[in-house]
Amino acid sequence: MPLFKSLSQTANVAERTKRILYTLQKSLDVHIKPYNKPLTRRGHAQLTKPPDQGLFLVTGGAGFVGSHLVDALMNQGTEVKVLDNLSNGSLGNIQKWLHHKHFQFIEGDLLNKKDVAESAKNCSVICHLAANPEVKLSSVAPDVHFEQNIIATYNLLEVARQSNAAESLVFTSSSTVYGDAEEIPTPETAPLEPISVYGASKLASEALISAYAHTYGFKARTYRLANVIGARSKHGIIYDFIHKLKENPHELEILGDGTQAKSYIHIDDCVKAMLIGQKAAEKAVEVFNLGSEDWVDVKTIATAVAEEMGLRNVVFHFTGGVDGGRGWKGDVKYMLLSTTKLKALGWKPKLNSTQAVRAAARSTINELG
Ligand code: NAD
Repeated sequence: MPLFKSLSQTANVAERTKRILYTLQKSLDVHIKPYNKPLTRRGHAQLTKPPDQGLFLVTGGAGFVGSHLVDALMNQGTEVKVLDNLSNGSLGNIQKWLHHKHFQFIEGDLLNKKDVAESAKNCSVICHLAANPEVKLSSVAPDVHFEQNIIATYNLLEVARQSNAAESLVFTSSSTVYGDAEEIPTPETAPLEPISVYGASKLASEALISAYAHTYGFKARTYRLANVIGARSKHGIIYDFIHKLKENPHELEILGDGTQAKSYIHIDDCVKAMLIGQKAAEKAVEVFNLGSEDWVDVKTIATAVAEEMGLRNVVFHFTGGVDGGRGWKGDVKYMLLSTTKLKALGWKPKLNSTQAVRAAARSTINELG
């Protein structure tokens, strides 16, 4: 029996998610907007027939990574539909395309199969980015990641299967599928042992996508993303630090012991890699790690952000964290991906982790004013 039979059930889930997120926002400083609107659809243009090079659907296209992918696709002349419930994305992110004749925005929810079916109509390429991306949420509200990431992906795959139009699917997975990897830099072939429900939800989605691609005959491209940063991001360490420092420019609370070290990739490098991987790969299912070639620790990020904000002598307070200095239960302490596979296709990131952190900090500082 389907889990979500009707609009009212979906609305209940949305309402529950909203309540959970509200509580978390208060207790965890999670900057994420709850989805609290009735389900509506809004088309800004009518795309009636698939163009020659294929019509693209971008789920989560009003979000951070999604809106940059939309920019790149529109700039290369692709026709694009976006499905987004605006729970964490915004129309502002895709404002410049809203009245373009090759663009359509549908405000809808992946938990509502009718919205999904309407969005996927005639689309030959589906880029599935919509998800709840907040890893921190996993330890206190695992059902959010189960619903928003696994059930949502399943709904999309079912619609893709039934519509028969989809030729390929692009999916944004995460480095968190590896958990505490023993091999660093971690290759795509490393053991998959997530330590957060978020990571598990991405791995489960990858597995569903692989099975549907093989069974129903479309290509799948999965990108296991490191931390993606840059303009329009509304979550993650840089956004959090800037928010906190704007409230108190003298002191900064840092989750964990500050030695957590991870790879950060600038959004421009990320989107370029996604376009290259989508075109170049040949097998039915391809998985690519996507990150920069080095890592940077949390204390260095805090220092860089404070400097970019023009602040001096900020006092850092480390919470100490859990399980040996992690920011929260399920936080991977050290993450650096091997990107040999993507680089073999001709891709190379322009910015390293520290350069990406500084560029992202400057963008966010400008955006927040
Ligand atoms: P984001 O929150 O900015 O974008 C996600 C978008 O999906 C938002 O616009 C949101 O409104 C929409 N959305 C969420 N649930 C939906 C639903 N049920 N129906 C319709 N729309 C829905 O996050 P992001 O950082 O842009 O992440 C994009 C993707 O990349 C996500 O799948 C995320 O898990 C993955 N990812 C991101 C990072 C990162 O560092 N940003 C790292 C690894 C993986």
